[in-house]
Amino acid sequence: MSKIFRKTLVAIILVFGVAANGTALLSAWLLHRHLTGEYVTKGRAIAMAIAAASPDALVAGDDASVQALIDEFLHIDGVGYVLVADRRGRVVAHTFVPAIPAALSGQEARRGEGMAVEAVRLDGLGDYLQVSAPILAGEAGQVRVGMDKAGIWRVMRGAVMQQEGLMLAMMFVALLVFYALVGSVTRPLVALAGYAVKIRDHDFTARLPATGNDEVGVLARAMGSMAGQLALLVSDLTRAVADTTRELKDSLAHTRAIIDNLADGLLVLDARGRASLFNPALLAMFGLTEAEVAGRAASRAFPPAMAALAASAAASGRCGPVGEEGHVQAAEVRLAGGGTGKAVATRVRLAGEDREGTIILVRDITVEKEVDRMKTEFISTVSHELRTPLTSVLGFAKIIRRKFADLVAPALAEADPRTWRGAQQIRENLDIIVAEGERLTELVDDVLDIAKMESGRCEWNMAALSLAEVADHAVKAATPLAARKGLVLANQVPPTLPLVLGDRDRLVQVFLNLIGNAVKFTATGRVDVEAALDGPEILVTVRDTGPGIAAGDLERIFEKFKQAGDTLTEKPKGTGLGLPICRQIVERHGGRIWAESEGGAGSAFRFTLPAMPLGDRPLPACPLPAAAIPAASPEDEAGKRRILVVDDDLSVRRYLETLFLDDGYAVALARNGAEALAVAESWGPECITMDLRMPGMDGKEAIRRLRAGEATRDIPIVVVSVVSNRERAESGADAAVVKPVDQEALLATVRGLLEGHDADAAGARPCLIYSRDGGRKVSRRFFVCPGEATSLSEEADLWRTVEAGFQGTVFVPATLGHDLDLGRLCAFPGVHVIIIPD
Ligand code: ADP
Repeated sequence: MSKIFRKTLVAIILVFGVAANGTALLSAWLLHRHLTGEYVTKGRAIAMAIAAASPDALVAGDDASVQALIDEFLHIDGVGYVLVADRRGRVVAHTFVPAIPAALSGQEARRGEGMAVEAVRLDGLGDYLQVSAPILAGEAGQVRVGMDKAGIWRVMRGAVMQQEGLMLAMMFVALLVFYALVGSVTRPLVALAGYAVKIRDHDFTARLPATGNDEVGVLARAMGSMAGQLALLVSDLTRAVADTTRELKDSLAHTRAIIDNLADGLLVLDARGRASLFNPALLAMFGLTEAEVAGRAASRAFPPAMAALAASAAASGRCGPVGEEGHVQAAEVRLAGGGTGKAVATRVRLAGEDREGTIILVRDITVEKEVDRMKTEFISTVSHELRTPLTSVLGFAKIIRRKFADLVAPALAEADPRTWRGAQQIRENLDIIVAEGERLTELVDDVLDIAKMESGRCEWNMAALSLAEVADHAVKAATPLAARKGLVLANQVPPTLPLVLGDRDRLVQVFLNLIGNAVKFTATGRVDVEAALDGPEILVTVRDTGPGIAAGDLERIFEKFKQAGDTLTEKPKGTGLGLPICRQIVERHGGRIWAESEGGAGSAFRFTLPAMPLGDRPLPACPLPAAAIPAASPEDEAGKRRILVVDDDLSVRRYLETLFLDDGYAVALARNGAEALAVAESWGPECITMDLRMPGMDGKEAIRRLRAGEATRDIPIVVVSVVSNRERAESGADAAVVKPVDQEALLATVRGLLEGHDADAAGARPCLIYSRDGGRKVSRRFFVCPGEATSLSEEADLWRTVEAGFQGTVFVPATLGHDLDLGRLCAFPGVHVIIIPD
């Protein structure tokens, strides 16, 4: 039986049930009303009849007549009981057998004409409608007729039963008709529903059920045609999905093959920082297995540098386009087996808007690193190998030139013109040899410098600096050069500028380079060094009145070996490396450098450096003053001062020997550390020049042993070598001069050391102790003053003392150092400043 059929059947039964019962109830109610009215009317009529017929008998006291009268009415349909009572309420006659119920006896007769109807319940007898009528207005008594309600119910029940039977018969007939009708409608519908279910299950071979031409038939045919179209659509779709799936699989396999065969390691971290994709190269690089990486956080699976990179990329929160600042982060990571890798992390959106992840690519740069190290080592070795012969070539060329000028030229003053011209030619050629030798030296230095900077192996000694002091140093150094060309060189850097964090030597190099170029290329006019605060940066300008630079060359000149103008026709005046080195240095300090020039009216080289915030300026590192150069040579003619020259290279030994002999020293030579120790002990030199890299005992070891020896401990030592700042600091020497040796610098250094040694020996170097309490709280533990120590508590006194020419050491407690212009203090010649910890 179909669902529709069942539902309709239930509905019909319900409707019929409700209708039948409703009708029956209504009919019963109406019948009850009608019958009750009829019973009351009947009761009234009987009561009236008895009331009219009974007065005489009542008055006469003929109870039997009254009884006979009422007995006649007892047979009338519906009458339950009849009773007559006299005026005092005594029941004179009644129809009850055997006795009248107590509830009805003893009721006094009502006075008046009216009749009364009331419902009465008699225990054990049932319910009655009692009609009471007065006899002779109650004076003779009263008649009461009880109409039995059971009769009403009996009639009603019979009527309702008949009605229900009729309804049931009608319902049965209706059901038969319904069955026939609904069956004819639902059968095709059920068949159609089965067909639809098959179509739903993609059974497009199912046969369309046979239906008529009614609405169900129309529906069936429509469904049939839809099923046909659906079959076509599904088959097309299935084919397309199969094609796409195949392509997707191919593409995935292709991508997977690329990832698996990548030489670089690939790691994809999901939004929670867990490894969701990686390739075999990555596992091999870190010596991990798949199980050790899959689904793990980078911090648990990889070395700390890698974990830190992933965390930093995730924390950057940047997911911007490639090329945006901060988008890519890089770090060097240690690989399994001691190799080095370069990891590059990129934050990306993996899918949708809210899922971000990190992609890390790791490249094994062990070989590149090694090549880089070898390159730097090669350049450094080549430079060293070039410097050593250069020292002799340049040194001897200078000596020959000097001796030629001092001895040969005067002797040739009287010579014939041909000899004189020849001598002139020799002097000019010597000048060229010296100039080119110096250029070659500069080139070697620059190549080494730029190679070190580009490979990141340069040492940077960063400290807070006053740019005014740095510029001052450079300007003083370049002043003789400018003066020789008749140029005005002015330092206009205000000392009030904020400090910068930088490497003093390197910044001096930038200033010297720019000022040197300006002087070199300017024929007449002036060179100005200016600086001003420009937002958070200091803008430095080196301006000249030279020929200027063509617009096309302004950027080109910062490239290595590039020079402005036509270098084929014009002889280059430099190495072409100065500006690239400046750019490296400035950029390493977080600044920018560029050149400006308009219409041949001079050039301006400008660079910026980030200014340090004024609030938290650290104590500036105080540059050690250059060794003081005495006005006159210290030795007397009788006893020459003894210098020991230690170098493994014969040419260098010869050159230095000539240099010192010419300057009036007594010279001894040693080829290595062991010889140096022996000569030092037996000969007692007053100063030693020491090469560091020598076969056998090297310079470092020799210095260590000299410092340990009782007799040799205090001999001043100058390192003359190709040394890095670190090596120089570690060597324990008193000073260092870089090869190829600048004669004047070496002689000045040696003189300065001998001077200082003498002063120390005499205990003459004085000290100033600057503190708010006059030096009482400054513990002697922190300083040693070989000379006289003076305590000062007023800043004004301090300045007055140093301005008056004080030369010695100034001790400043760190807390006072913040308020003091240390840059200015350090700039006083002969003043050392030492910051004492609080
Ligand atoms: P070098 O000066 O040793 O040749 P640099 O890198 O310092 O190397 O300079 C590159 C070139 O830039 C110079 O050769 C010169 O052509 C040009 N240049 C630099 N400074 C100036 C200047 N102040 N005026 C004109 N040209 C300059």
